[in-house]
Amino acid sequence: MKITTPYYLIDENKLLRNMEIIRQVRQLSGAKSVLALKCFSTWSVFELMRQYMDGTTSSSLFEARLGYEKFGKETHAYCVGYSAEDIRAVTAFADKVIFNSASQLERYYELVKTKKVGLRVNPGISHSHFDLADPARRHSRLGVTDKAVLAAQLPRLSGFMFHYNCENDDYPAFVRQLDYIGEQYGDMLKELEWISLGGGIYFTKEGYPVEAFSRTLADFAKTYGVQIYLEPGESAITGAAELVTRVVDIVQNEINIAIVDASVEGHMLDLLIYRLAAKMEAEQTTGHSYMVAGRSCLAGDVFGTFHFADRLEVGSEIRFADAAGYTMVKKNWFNGLAMPAIAVKRLDGTLEVVRTFDYADFLTSLS
Ligand SMILES: *Cc1c(COP(=O)(O)O)cnc(C)c1O
Repeated sequence: MKITTPYYLIDENKLLRNMEIIRQVRQLSGAKSVLALKCFSTWSVFELMRQYMDGTTSSSLFEARLGYEKFGKETHAYCVGYSAEDIRAVTAFADKVIFNSASQLERYYELVKTKKVGLRVNPGISHSHFDLADPARRHSRLGVTDKAVLAAQLPRLSGFMFHYNCENDDYPAFVRQLDYIGEQYGDMLKELEWISLGGGIYFTKEGYPVEAFSRTLADFAKTYGVQIYLEPGESAITGAAELVTRVVDIVQNEINIAIVDASVEGHMLDLLIYRLAAKMEAEQTTGHSYMVAGRSCLAGDVFGTFHFADRLEVGSEIRFADAAGYTMVKKNWFNGLAMPAIAVKRLDGTLEVVRTFDYADFLTSLS
């Protein structure tokens, strides 16, 4: 089947690899994993993911609702700032309501007290390569920093949520952080049922010591008598999708520049925000070199510079790897560019286009 470019292509077999590691961690450690929907919300593959994960976690009312409706199992609701309307709506289906601050907890406790209530802790430590994504940055609003405030809220709480990592593939660093959390919060943890360690732990990365990681989690859970949750976003879907594009023009300005029918700004926005180059599955170091750029009018809409065995022509296909996380959830209509369709290669190899977008979607995104 030929699909019109541009499109995101999710490969369930690649997804399965991550799912099997998540299941292994669950079996070896007892830690449950809930999918962080802010990273990936493409619900057409939830049927597969549901068999390996324990539910979802969210950043907003709409994500929580999507998790409840499309994923099922446990629904954790978290939001940096709930409105009263959000709280009323979310308590209809969330199993856990996790607050970002003691003031939000105070304000809404009466409305949520029949649920399991959690509070986000800011432990003041983090592992992030970017200040923009560092929850422990100066003046961070993410989570409660004051231990006395946490202690005062304990009777209302069943758990703490910590989220302090971003693409942390350093297992010894993870252990040091967890030891620190045990030392700092251990007495309080003993009064709680569960603790979430958030996302950003890169335990599905090739070579990550999954068994040692699982033992560390199991030991921690036993020491403090808590159910551990992990909230993988990127780790759940890493490497599971490509953005498939086609060259629409080739121009020269000192170098050869291939312009494709997608855009970094519109379709892989995080590359722009974090100033990273796109990846290709089998990256070549020799051959014909091109800067590959998007077709938005933004001057810096550049995927990166790559080598190709053959000269590119108008119509050549270019596939960007690792296009599942923080891409489809962030795509936008900037420049009114054609929105990539979403296709899924099922476990049995069948190719299915699960969503296409057209002018009507652009039109109705505004009024
Ligand atoms: C972003 C986020 C996650 C997922 O992070 P990844 O880096 O994609 O694993 C999990 N929990 C919370 C609270 C988050 O903000």
